[in-house]
Amino acid sequence: SDIGSQKERVVTEEEWLQKWEMGNIGFHKEQGHPLLQKYLDVLLNGRSGLRIFFPLCGKAVEMKWLADMGHNVVGVEVSEQALKEFFSEHSLPYCEEPVPEISGGKMFQSTSGNISLYCCSIYDLSSSIVGKFDGVWDRGALVAVNPCDRQRYASLMINLMEKNSSYLLVTVSYDPNKHKGPPFYVPESEIKSLFG
Ligand code: SAH
Repeated sequence: SDIGSQKERVVTEEEWLQKWEMGNIGFHKEQGHPLLQKYLDVLLNGRSGLRIFFPLCGKAVEMKWLADMGHNVVGVEVSEQALKEFFSEHSLPYCEEPVPEISGGKMFQSTSGNISLYCCSIYDLSSSIVGKFDGVWDRGALVAVNPCDRQRYASLMINLMEKNSSYLLVTVSYDPNKHKGPPFYVPESEIKSLFG
């Protein structure tokens, strides 16, 4: 479970924006993620009308799925392009407003009000801005965060969770000395120590 050479690796926000500009977004799943379908019951746990958080959301189509099921979806993403593509690809009208608490931060909200996507760094968010959540879908998020920021990321996520919330986390397992990531390899032992 040695994460080897990945420990020091840093991908800047600028590099992520470039990936979006270049269309270098192999992580995006047009058909959505089969693991969310498989574990949907675990996420929802019989509850309806939940507030569900999508950290580092990209233009994940699962946001549309959950909104269509009657949940309230909140996402955060540094790339404005990604968020605009999300709304246009699903033909969803939206409006854009500044977020006073975050300098340069914007919020894109579907006109129907059930999808709110923040365009800023996840580290700019706090529960006083976005509230707390009943569920989290973490795919391409913890594994995309720079290894040096994992602790900060996990503390923030714990802070954004309601008492009875459920957190679905997707990780990838491979030899971290053979690929530089992202997605980064996050060993099970580290997940235990990050989230307790
Ligand atoms: N969860 C999405 C996207 C995964 S790729 C999916 O499943 O398709 C990781 C995304 O995080 C990229 O779109 C990148 O632009 C965004 N990102 C990277 N660092 C970020 C940060 N600090 N705050 C918010 N978004 C970030």
